[in-house]
Amino acid sequence: MPTADAPVAGTAVDGDRIAALFAAQRQGVAVRRVSFDYAARLVALERLRDALVRREADIVAALAADFGKPATEVLLTEILPVRQEIAHARRHLRRWMRPRRVRPTLGLIGTAARVRPEPKGVCLIIAPWNYPLNLALGPLVSALAAGNAVMLKPSELAPATSTLIASLIAETFPPGLVAVVEGDAAVAERLLALPFDHIFFTGSPAVGRIVMAAAARTLASVTLELGGKSPAIVGPGADPRKAARWIAWGKFANAGQTCIAPDHVFVHRSVADRLVAALEAEIARAYGADPSARRHSPDYARIVSRRHADRLHDLIESATAAGAQVLAGGEADPVARYVAPTLIARTTLDMAVSQEEIFGPVLPVIAYDDLDQVIARIDAGPKPLALYVFDRSRSFAEAITARTSSGAVGINLTLAHFLHVGLPFGGIGQSGIGAAHGEHGFRAFSHEKAILRDRFSVTPLLFPPYTPLVQRLVRLTLRLLG
Ligand code: NAD
Repeated sequence: MPTADAPVAGTAVDGDRIAALFAAQRQGVAVRRVSFDYAARLVALERLRDALVRREADIVAALAADFGKPATEVLLTEILPVRQEIAHARRHLRRWMRPRRVRPTLGLIGTAARVRPEPKGVCLIIAPWNYPLNLALGPLVSALAAGNAVMLKPSELAPATSTLIASLIAETFPPGLVAVVEGDAAVAERLLALPFDHIFFTGSPAVGRIVMAAAARTLASVTLELGGKSPAIVGPGADPRKAARWIAWGKFANAGQTCIAPDHVFVHRSVADRLVAALEAEIARAYGADPSARRHSPDYARIVSRRHADRLHDLIESATAAGAQVLAGGEADPVARYVAPTLIARTTLDMAVSQEEIFGPVLPVIAYDDLDQVIARIDAGPKPLALYVFDRSRSFAEAITARTSSGAVGINLTLAHFLHVGLPFGGIGQSGIGAAHGEHGFRAFSHEKAILRDRFSVTPLLFPPYTPLVQRLVRLTLRLLG
């Protein structure tokens, strides 16, 4: 564990430097409120976009080094979302920043009301390893659009991407505006001790609790983008082939290390066999016809670390030892950080695979007869980050949407809601607090300042001394307004 002043994670970041960076950003807050205006924010966003274009090959190489992520997947799931956030923010920033007029209320006739978004100040972003670029720079776009200075801590578990982010940011922004601090939990804890104005955390629910406890000490506001088990439900009216295409992509892209990946699938018994056959066909189509081809597929990512690969291997082994059946895949080579795309059936609730977030390419397929039982089971657990429904019937999807609570619902698709910049992206309860993306991200990093200006209001008529006339006016006001 690094001590207070020891260098951390290969970079010369120490406690004093963290404190100095924070102090410099803090000192600039008052000036930035005026100088970091619309035009300056556009420039900052353009600079970030240019850096992403300039360093594209380095980004692809870093993600290949960290977990063998296919280049096309890097473009689609790491670079595209951030560039899209930038383009969207540039297009709409003027409107987002504009003070909104609010109609006067009856009691305050003669006043003018506005809500003006202002930057929170100095914000902390802590990112996870699974989409290490996207989930570090996506929130940064929102934070800059909202006019903040940012300290950003990438994940130490994706070290090549962490180093790349540090250099990309250092050549793009002065540290007084954006500073990257590399390192592990100890560094994160040191950062969390500082009085940030907002903390934007993406990661596990367990660490989310630590972050929120730390934020309580300084009363920083938080956005927590957490995880959990996101179910898919395939109804009796689903097209099994279409469902399988989306589920296989959602589950096996990034080797299942996706916060909104379908964790497990409930399938109506009448279509279960067809869905499993279609999933097997989809795995073969996407990653190779046999285990050896899949093992060497350039389109299939590796698990981030030996420890995580061991954990997934254990999940499969312990489930099969307890009676679960592997329908496809099941092979794992933790040393090479490889876990095959795996379908597993006959899981029971007491198995670890049914209890913890799988976060890997292992898909339990659970046949159901009674939808009420599926809904009761979802309701009994923590609220999921995403819930997916597959069925041709809109009323089936609508009924499930109405009867369950989750961060988002995807109907006849998976993951794609992440790419819709107009939708709030976030969880509820244990899957998170607050929302990211587009205007929702801008608001997360802004304070909505209420401004009320007197023009010809009659409120002073109610000021003391409380003469009989004032008393009568107060009574009248009460009757009129209440
Ligand atoms: P994690 O919680 O282990 O780590 C996330 C970040 O927190 C890292 O930067 C890490 O260094 C830091 N951290 C670790 N321990 C800490 C501590 N004690 N105090 C402060 N910071 C600490 O998560 P992970 O393993 O990187 O990511 C996987 C989890 O993240 C999964 O649960 C997944 O569902 C979730 N996730 C959620 C989203 C989302 O948008 N909702 C996106 C990606 C991942």
